[in-house]
Amino acid sequence: MSRPIVATIHSAALRQNLTIVRRAAPNSRVWSVVKANGYGHGIDRILQHLSDTDGFALLNLEEAIQLRERGWKKPILLLEGFFHSDELELLDRYRLTTSVHSNWQIKALAQAQLSAPLDIYVKLNSGMNRLGFMPEQLHNVWQKLRALENVGEMTLMTHFAEAEKEDGIIEPMKQVERAAEGLNAPRSLANSAATLWHPEAHFDWVRPGIVLYGASPSGQWQDIAGTGLQPAMSLTSEVIAVQQLKPGAGVGYGYRYHAQTEQRIGIVACGYADGYPRHAPGGTPVVIDGVRTQTIGAVSMDMLVVDLTPCPQAGIGSKAELWGDRVKIDEVASSAGTVGYELMCAVAPRVPVEVI
Ligand SMILES: *Cc1c(COP(=O)(O)O)cnc(C)c1O
Repeated sequence: MSRPIVATIHSAALRQNLTIVRRAAPNSRVWSVVKANGYGHGIDRILQHLSDTDGFALLNLEEAIQLRERGWKKPILLLEGFFHSDELELLDRYRLTTSVHSNWQIKALAQAQLSAPLDIYVKLNSGMNRLGFMPEQLHNVWQKLRALENVGEMTLMTHFAEAEKEDGIIEPMKQVERAAEGLNAPRSLANSAATLWHPEAHFDWVRPGIVLYGASPSGQWQDIAGTGLQPAMSLTSEVIAVQQLKPGAGVGYGYRYHAQTEQRIGIVACGYADGYPRHAPGGTPVVIDGVRTQTIGAVSMDMLVVDLTPCPQAGIGSKAELWGDRVKIDEVASSAGTVGYELMCAVAPRVPVEVI
């Protein structure tokens, strides 16, 4: 590749993060969540490094089939279930576990011609109001599904809206208890935040996503600083030009930055067309040649600008870490008013990826 930008996937970090999840929830099995092409890391690139997991969870049928075609034999969970009843044939063929969240899916399951029963996750709406049955419907739904020949093992599942908060799962847990009373149902409730911070929600299967990739479910990297979780992706590039500014000189589109004094700046080959957030204001951290500095002015399509004042030794060819070990993806995300999840999913197809 001629342009120096690259996204590096760290296989050791993926393995380590899975180990940390297991330590956090030692009595639970683990669904490693790999939706959105493994949170942007690439399912094919991460599969073997997460292969110690008990199952993979995602929501795209094509990605599930891709996993089977790569030889994955353990469970696969479709987090949003099937979107149309004609997909049941493929769920059957590829032996996929499906979430069931709506009445039409129960009907479709009842009418399908399957070679063997499918395991299902019955989704409860515990307050988030996206997917799932209301707690007062659950008994009825459960009994209906239990009576179907096409249904194998059944697990109760819900998703938390704010498990990163200390009291964030109290109310949803009450709804789960209410709904599950007398059912003796295995449960899967915990996303990353609940896996780390709410052991009372662990039960039979946890469903971590973001922590496997080494970013914080709260958006604050300090919240995971002591855990040993490591960034699974770094985005790096190089300084491709240097400018010496005079006092008052403007920089970039809209001259959003003006130098106060004489100042050396570097132009880095990374822009919003690579997935770096255009909303990141000047002052967003970046590491140049191992030294922490910050961005200046507007992010453009293919370039961004950095202050070289703290690193006078840096010049053309100096390495730039946009995010990774030294600059956490959560820092860049919060500077840009978003979350690490979005940035890792948004790395553009034009960025070359290497796995080490
Ligand atoms: C995305 C998702 C998860 C994982 O969430 P993280 O916050 O990344 O851990 C778990 N369960 C469901 C249903 C999801 O959609």
